[in-house]
Amino acid sequence: MKLTPREELIVERMAPGVLCAEGFLGSDGRSLGDILAADSHTVESLDLTHKQIAAKLGEIMQAAADAFGNPVSVGDGLSAVAAEAMGPIGCPWGGCGVFAKGEIELTDARSGKTLRLTPLSVHLIGRHGFYQGKGARYRLEPEELARLLDISGGDEA
Ligand SMILES: [Zn+2]
Repeated sequence: MKLTPREELIVERMAPGVLCAEGFLGSDGRSLGDILAADSHTVESLDLTHKQIAAKLGEIMQAAADAFGNPVSVGDGLSAVAAEAMGPIGCPWGGCGVFAKGEIELTDARSGKTLRLTPLSVHLIGRHGFYQGKGARYRLEPEELARLLDISGGDEA
């Protein structure tokens, strides 16, 4: 499928070294449209919305930011800690303002697995339904988020 000029621009901005060193698409060979469609399908099948997921992630980021670098419990076996980083970053879609670069590490004590959240990645989910490409530093799996965050369909966003 041919991309519109606007979609082409978004994809260009997602390349490594444009907005951030790592880029947004990782090693994912799928088109942006296919990535968005697949993750939207997953979220719908969980009876959730991108906004519900982003709202929960936003709460976690705020709790971690308020703890000033100290780990904070944000759920059953889940802890979050904020790391400062300098500078702002823009959204690949453009026109969304800029976001602080600091990241939040979200660790699940049961699996030992750590996810990384940023203000931009939460914006990308809530506003654009974009969880980034597989292999990207900040890729988040919708199913894993739903399970870890214990959000179920029908909850108020
Ligand atoms: Zn945006």
